[in-house]
Amino acid sequence: LEAKFSVIQEENGPINGLITVVHDVTEKQKIEQERREFVANVSHELRTPLTTMKSYLEALEDGAMKDKELGPRFLNVTQNETERMIRLVNDLLQLSKIDSLDYQLSFEIINIGSFLNDIIDRFEMIALDKKIRFNRKIANSPVYVKVAPDKLTQVLDNVISNAMKYSPEGGDIKVQMLQRGEHLQISISDQGMGIPRESQAKIFDRFYRVDKARARSVGGTGLGLAIARELILAHNGDIWVESEYGKGTTIHITLPFSNDQEGEHEL
Ligand code: ADP
Repeated sequence: LEAKFSVIQEENGPINGLITVVHDVTEKQKIEQERREFVANVSHELRTPLTTMKSYLEALEDGAMKDKELGPRFLNVTQNETERMIRLVNDLLQLSKIDSLDYQLSFEIINIGSFLNDIIDRFEMIALDKKIRFNRKIANSPVYVKVAPDKLTQVLDNVISNAMKYSPEGGDIKVQMLQRGEHLQISISDQGMGIPRESQAKIFDRFYRVDKARARSVGGTGLGLAIARELILAHNGDIWVESEYGKGTTIHITLPFSNDQEGEHEL
């Protein structure tokens, strides 16, 4: 805390009062510290692919280009790194848009059951390669929620693709829909490696990754869940993780119902 004192006193007269202004500098310092860390992280995340590209381009220039096998392979590396930088910059732009004060979502009322089924259908095609099966616990009867469909799609795409990335071959991914009081809950569970307890609260932070090297090799930017959290909060919902290290991970998402549907039961 920072305190400033001013004495209220007429010239040579008696002291009439004392004004104390107290500022919470710790909060200000914390925000400033976070801002500095964020800039350092962004710089580092951009420098890594740039350094890789530079060395591969140099190798190409030094003769690798003429090599039938190395040439295309090195070009492919630079292409992948470029794509990663584009993903990163797009994620950063989206975060800065969300951070701006006038950020607004365009809401629509949707039937969440068929919405979830459509998303899973799309993932089931990709999941075939890894022999991953989806276990759907989704209501047949229509349940309506007011959401920004493209944003919710983005959140679910991110959570489900994480579940797939960290799933073992032949694993199960369960997508469950529950009604909890005035909220709809969507829970996505995988049978992957799980997340150590001390990391669980941090995975929604910008650039946090449990295992940096591994996360990078699977192509992540470390911003997916940070964006997901911002988007869910903008829906007046919540997102959190439940995980047992070595056993699997569940991401829970709640969204408010568009009308009053009380009670708590499995749909
Ligand atoms: P990334 O782009 O690295 O996937 P995210 O923000 O989506 O970034 O996730 C942050 C980190 O949380 C990941 O790097 C990973 O360490 C961890 N994580 C997310 N989902 C899972 C999951 N289903 N199982 C295990 N770890 C996960």
